[in-house]
Amino acid sequence: MPSRPKQYRPNPKPQPRPTSAARGTRHERGYTARWSKVSKLYLQQHPTCVLCAERGRIEAATCVDHIDGLGPLGPRGYDETNFRSLCTSCHNSRSARDRHAKNRGASP
Ligand SMILES: [Zn+2]
Repeated sequence: MPSRPKQYRPNPKPQPRPTSAARGTRHERGYTARWSKVSKLYLQQHPTCVLCAERGRIEAATCVDHIDGLGPLGPRGYDETNFRSLCTSCHNSRSARDRHAKNRGASP
């Protein structure tokens, strides 16, 4: 006896990431030419990833992270004691964790 052909059932749609309209543009979030200049200078002075260094690895840093997680518009946005150099991998992990914590309403 022939069986019924399988029906196509698409996977559930993944939740869309917030659009730039919801998050604000890069510039609106404080990542301005001034920030570019400051972060570039900081990376020249601190060229390796601090989180990789804690694990005994030496990795070139590609971005400056705000330890408080508030970005350039935060109260310590241009305070170097609030900066740390991270590689892309560590920065992405940190950002994902922050977004997850924010969605759950927990503090970072
Ligand atoms: Zn790293």
